[in-house]
Amino acid sequence: MVIAQAPSSSQPSSSRSAPAADDPALVGTPPMGAFWMPFTANRKFKQSPQLIVGAEGMHYRLADGRLVLDAIAGLWCVNAGHRNPRVTAALKAQIDVLDYASNFQSGHPAAFELAARLADFAPGDLNHVFFTNSGSESVDTALKIAVAYHRARGDAGRYRLIGRERDYHGVSFGGISVSGIGRQRSTFGPLLNGVDHLPTTHDPVRNAFSRGEPVHGIEKADALEAMLVLHDPSTVAAVIVEPVAGSTGVLPPPQGYLRRLREICDRHGVLLIFDEVITGFGRLGANFAADLTGVLPDLITAAKGLSNGAVPMGAVLVRDGVHDAFMHGAAGSVELMHGYTYSGHPLACAAASATLDAYLEDGLIAQAAALSPYLEDGLHALRGLPGVIDVRNLGLLAGVELAPYAGGTMTRGQAVAQQCLARGVMVRAVGDTIALSPPFTISRAQIDEIVDTLRAAILNTVDQPS
Ligand code: PLP
Repeated sequence: MVIAQAPSSSQPSSSRSAPAADDPALVGTPPMGAFWMPFTANRKFKQSPQLIVGAEGMHYRLADGRLVLDAIAGLWCVNAGHRNPRVTAALKAQIDVLDYASNFQSGHPAAFELAARLADFAPGDLNHVFFTNSGSESVDTALKIAVAYHRARGDAGRYRLIGRERDYHGVSFGGISVSGIGRQRSTFGPLLNGVDHLPTTHDPVRNAFSRGEPVHGIEKADALEAMLVLHDPSTVAAVIVEPVAGSTGVLPPPQGYLRRLREICDRHGVLLIFDEVITGFGRLGANFAADLTGVLPDLITAAKGLSNGAVPMGAVLVRDGVHDAFMHGAAGSVELMHGYTYSGHPLACAAASATLDAYLEDGLIAQAAALSPYLEDGLHALRGLPGVIDVRNLGLLAGVELAPYAGGTMTRGQAVAQQCLARGVMVRAVGDTIALSPPFTISRAQIDEIVDTLRAAILNTVDQPS
């Protein structure tokens, strides 16, 4: 994450900015050379690093002592707030009992208990859980399950995978093959064979400033029918989409689109995978996008909000019929030759179970749903500011798109994100869209703070910095 140094005049109120001289959060700059930072302009960052040294609730603490409001929940993951007390307590308790146990032909109770809870939490008959350690691993696992499922049923001709333009599915070779982001794919040589991509649903002309699911674009799903005919449907294993494409600018699905994809998949025996790494675990004000839209996929990939970002964890949720197709082989044989050393790690299970408690017992998902219209109203009030070309939102997930600068070394999105940080609010720039996905513990006053800060930052970045 590239974080700009804040000018001292723009620091937030002194009660949140003056660390005591002996504050343990005040650390020196560590040696910078060895860490090859992911998705980062390493050389630029290391010239003027600004580090995050602490967090609590809705705030991060930066190395200069400032507290900043976290409007993106870490990286769309800390849905229940930073250092959520339930999660922290569960991790401390778990490490005193069991640090690690393999789930390869052995197992530990917390993994089974968590899987059962997730099956209850998931919609429909998504009753089976394969644990991973990240969203990327979840995507790879889901793609492999999809291909292997058809083989398990004697339908080995189905190997093709269909993704969609502008969808992000992590960084494994499987994930970047189905992802629809050119610059993420172009430097890695030939990817998986037999992959094709649906067109994006994003329609900046007809759907600009939509609230929730946009009205126009259900017909974009019909491209799937044409693509299946093109490739011969009997060769296609699965379609994977993000219900709301997050990392390319927060693109909610047109009304009816996901249902139509489901209908087409059903007609042709193709599995439908929802990548809910961002949209799962309450982000849209429902447990999953599948719940919100009433469209049941065959597999859901999850991570991020599953463990509140406290410990790496991912999962693939699988419907009965898909899972059961694997359970007819020779007795005693391994049904799926796949797994990770840390699948269902005890600490991750403890964190995820406590996170579920926070969602359910503390009513956080209901809170996300209740706050969503307030965030929507606040952000749509930015319409009309110079250079604001779109506002999109669903649940506590939103994007404010800005007209790009003509050139230069910094995008308008980056300029606005830097300005916001200087004013005490951390947002995420994805291209020229400012993405927002705050923890569900956010207050209305903090939503106001985000909107006011964004307004000031947008007004202050109309001209390209020289
Ligand atoms: N899928 C989606 C929709 C994501 O947003 C992400 C990450 O942002 C991933 C997959 C990859 O997750 P991870 O970074 O945990 O591998």
